[in-house]
Amino acid sequence: MKIMVSACLAGENCKYNGGNNRNEKVLQLMADNEAITVCPEQLGGLPTPRVPSEIKDGLVTAKDGRIVDAQFRAGAAKCLEIAGRERPDLVVLQPRSPSCGVKQRYDGTFSGRLVDGAGVTAQLLMEEGFRCIDAEDLIAVHKGFLIRKLCVGESDLLKDFLYEAIFISEGVKAPAREIVERPELRIYYEDFGSRSGDHCLVAQAGNQVVGAVWTRIMNDYGHVDDETPSFAISLLPEYRNKGIGTRLMKEMLLLLKGVGFKRASLAVQKANYAVRMYKNVGFEIIDENEEEFIMVCRL
Ligand code: SF4
Repeated sequence: MKIMVSACLAGENCKYNGGNNRNEKVLQLMADNEAITVCPEQLGGLPTPRVPSEIKDGLVTAKDGRIVDAQFRAGAAKCLEIAGRERPDLVVLQPRSPSCGVKQRYDGTFSGRLVDGAGVTAQLLMEEGFRCIDAEDLIAVHKGFLIRKLCVGESDLLKDFLYEAIFISEGVKAPAREIVERPELRIYYEDFGSRSGDHCLVAQAGNQVVGAVWTRIMNDYGHVDDETPSFAISLLPEYRNKGIGTRLMKEMLLLLKGVGFKRASLAVQKANYAVRMYKNVGFEIIDENEEEFIMVCRL
């Protein structure tokens, strides 16, 4: 995998105060992959140290009142030029920065308050189709696979993995792909990210997302109550039985516990080989019908 990284995450002293945001997970990812570092603010001609800046009314403004928007946008353009040449499979950026933040940034009042929205470099890279992620959304590197949260703009992947998740017994013909548009399946992905139980982790190998686990409080077959998220998980066929699914499940259980959920549930066809894996990560059968087990994991 080729990655492009905010230079401060790699330990370069390019931060506004002359320090860095050294991040061990990023360093591990860099050691295992081809990596390029960039600091958009330095590339835009700003010195280090420099006066901190935030985006206010659409313009990047320094704390002393100077408008530094042109320098920030010049740096973003240079990063885009580098990304265009290097074609990184993933861009890992420093959260909340007016240049590098992907999901959030400071609100322009220099009071520590945050707003949803990206910094100018992250925004430009995402508009041009580069897959960008805040460094804090990297979860783990597992046997050469990166486990991370879903990037902004990747929600459509859930449809692909939902289709892969449909269990097909031996000798039965696979259904048409359009099956995922049925109302009882749309609940797994529609408006994903808009509710408190919506969480997704993916496994990425090279340029490709090869597996996904996601949770949602929804009225699916695994629903037990309105406080318990249900699981969906699937891997591309060639990546099954390599321990990736187990690792994705364990990381998701930790994530759910971390955000305060008490348990998680799922429904699985009795004949599905995954029943054993679910038991191994802590799920217990609490109910069953003719075809399925309903399983719960206490967190
Ligand atoms: S512009 Fe990006 S890379 Fe440079 S110091 Fe700020 S957050 Fe780090």
